[in-house]
Amino acid sequence: VSPLQRQVSDMARRVAVVAIVAGVLLFAVRVMTGNAASLSFVFALGVMVALVPEGLPATLSVSLAIGVRRMARRHALIKRLVVVETLGSTTVICTDKTGTLTKGEMTLQQIFESGHTHAVTGLGYAPEGEVQDLDEVTNLLRVAALCCDARLLAPVEDRGWHVLGDTTEGAILVALAKAGVDLAAESSRTPRVGVFPFDSDRKIMTTLHQVGGGVEAYVKGSPQALIERCKEVQWNGKVIPLGPEIRQQVEAANDTMADAALRVLAVATRTVTSDRVSQEDAEHGLTLLGLVGMVDPPRAEITDAVRACQRAAIAIFMVTGDYGLTAEAIARRVGIVRSGSARVVTGTDLDAMSEKELATTLRGDDQVIFARVRPEHKLRIVLALKELGEIVAVTGDGANDAPALKSASVGVAMSEGGTDVARAAAEMLLLDDSFASIVAAIELGRAVYQNIRRFLVYLFSHNLAELAPILAATFVGFPLVPLSALQVLAIDLGSDVLPALALGAEAPEPDTMARPPRPPGEHLFSSEVVRRFLFLGVIESIGVVFAFFWRIHSAHLPFSAFRASNPTYREALTMTQASIVVSQFFNSFAVRTDRESVLRIGLFSNPPLIFAGLFGLSFVTCVSYVPLLQRVFNTAPLRPLDWLILISFGVLLLVADESRKAVHRLIDRRRHVAASRGLSLEAH
Ligand code: ADP
Ligand code: MG
Repeated sequence: VSPLQRQVSDMARRVAVVAIVAGVLLFAVRVMTGNAASLSFVFALGVMVALVPEGLPATLSVSLAIGVRRMARRHALIKRLVVVETLGSTTVICTDKTGTLTKGEMTLQQIFESGHTHAVTGLGYAPEGEVQDLDEVTNLLRVAALCCDARLLAPVEDRGWHVLGDTTEGAILVALAKAGVDLAAESSRTPRVGVFPFDSDRKIMTTLHQVGGGVEAYVKGSPQALIERCKEVQWNGKVIPLGPEIRQQVEAANDTMADAALRVLAVATRTVTSDRVSQEDAEHGLTLLGLVGMVDPPRAEITDAVRACQRAAIAIFMVTGDYGLTAEAIARRVGIVRSGSARVVTGTDLDAMSEKELATTLRGDDQVIFARVRPEHKLRIVLALKELGEIVAVTGDGANDAPALKSASVGVAMSEGGTDVARAAAEMLLLDDSFASIVAAIELGRAVYQNIRRFLVYLFSHNLAELAPILAATFVGFPLVPLSALQVLAIDLGSDVLPALALGAEAPEPDTMARPPRPPGEHLFSSEVVRRFLFLGVIESIGVVFAFFWRIHSAHLPFSAFRASNPTYREALTMTQASIVVSQFFNSFAVRTDRESVLRIGLFSNPPLIFAGLFGLSFVTCVSYVPLLQRVFNTAPLRPLDWLILISFGVLLLVADESRKAVHRLIDRRRHVAASRGLSLEAH
């Protein structure tokens, strides 16, 4: 059960209790003051129906559904409606690097071998480019490529060269093709006889190959994980022990590449006894061939998305399996790290940290990057953040990411890259795998929440206006109901549902991402919402009560002389219903903004709302003039002067609310000026 569901059912229960209590009380009061039981029952019924927001459940679901559809258009697919709302309250995003912040389109650009770095030219997956010093590097590329599961696919109709499978491996295949080596021929010459697949725990992958009469293991993986397992190195064509000196050279080369934001893989081989060798045997005592470095440029749209998060006070933690220097270089390029130093926390650091230290690190002022972490670390980070009260969105692609995705507030999986397990565990799928789509979805989620509040204010202010005349009649001892239960239903389900739906579809306000996330514990019915619907509802009520009694007064009869058949009573009943509908028409414009003037966002900028409002007005017009409906609702035709009065009250409502907003804007500005003055004083 999401917070929204809980709050809505809480509210429903409370409203039901209030409605029943009010109904019973009203019945008792009227019977005790000498009214007939049957008429008193009609009053009680009217109050109960007036208090219940009949249109709310439908409006709520539809506005969430609209949110889901808008998110899908922005490449974020939501599995359950209520996630929309959780997304809107996100305070932290933990994101992968590869494919999410970066294009995930790798190009192998450097090969380090025997103390030299060789360049590979070209960009993307088209095998067009030069490989420097072919003789020295071909074997390394051949070994790396044979240790791949991905496939390089030639252009088809609508897409160019592309990779099926892991893009890291794709880059290796492209480089081998640039070197002019035919992979198919190589793999039939040295067929694969076994495989220990890549996983993000080991960060290594091994394949076994039949070479001549023997078997060789071809290994590739993260340099940190792989170099430890090497005992020898191939250096200038000879196999020599991997001493500290050469090791240092290799590590320096790795750091240089990582500093330049390259993703680095080490490649090694080993002669093994048979194809039945165990994984441990195959992956130790290796002979290092060298390193390959590939670029994975940041996606173009990420810088803006990161900036939007910073304005919206949403924290970003990069959590990547990649090397710290590479991670930091990318974080700087996309603006996650803006100035000064970033604190890179590795998986090993994390293992040494207590829960308390982790919490201080997460809360600290430093920008923290988690690098060389394993999926279980991701889970730990998520749990620690939730412990701190954050609403956490987490991305993941591997099968091992499933626990982290499940325990996050919103698990986000990739639809292009990534595994089915991750997709099943996630609440949201990114159709384009981009971080920017998460941010877009958050903005829409925030907008949905604001819209829900808008139509809550809208619906509850008219509930107040329905209640007011009934209470007023009881108070002044008028014997007949000023608004029948049937009319209340006609308003709630007839003329008011469509505008509420249109409010639920209101586009995000421009400053949606310029505010901090709403506090996680905040109630849907915040004091601001209550204040607003009381403000609007009271003004509307005054108009409605006036409309009814003004009409009753025109008959110049004592209250006790009124019978249900009296034509003036029918006209007055019509006035009450029409007054509510007309006021609601103006109210629907008032609730569109919190602070901003509606004139600023444009009266006509939500066309469905106008149509919905006009529909409501025509409906009540029919109730007033169509004989059949007159009989059903006990109504009568209104005169032009009546309409004029009703419309004046509507305009008054809008003007009152505009003035309230103007005052608020003024106060805000004053406060702003005072605050900036305070700042400049501090600076002096
Ligand atoms: P991320 O996707 O966040 O960079 P991964 O866990 O996928 O993290 O990768 C971690 C490291 O494992 C990479 O930096 C790279 O060195 C290595 N690696 C990635 N893919 C492969 C692969 N297919 N085969 C061997 N090593 C790989
Ligand atoms: Mg990965």
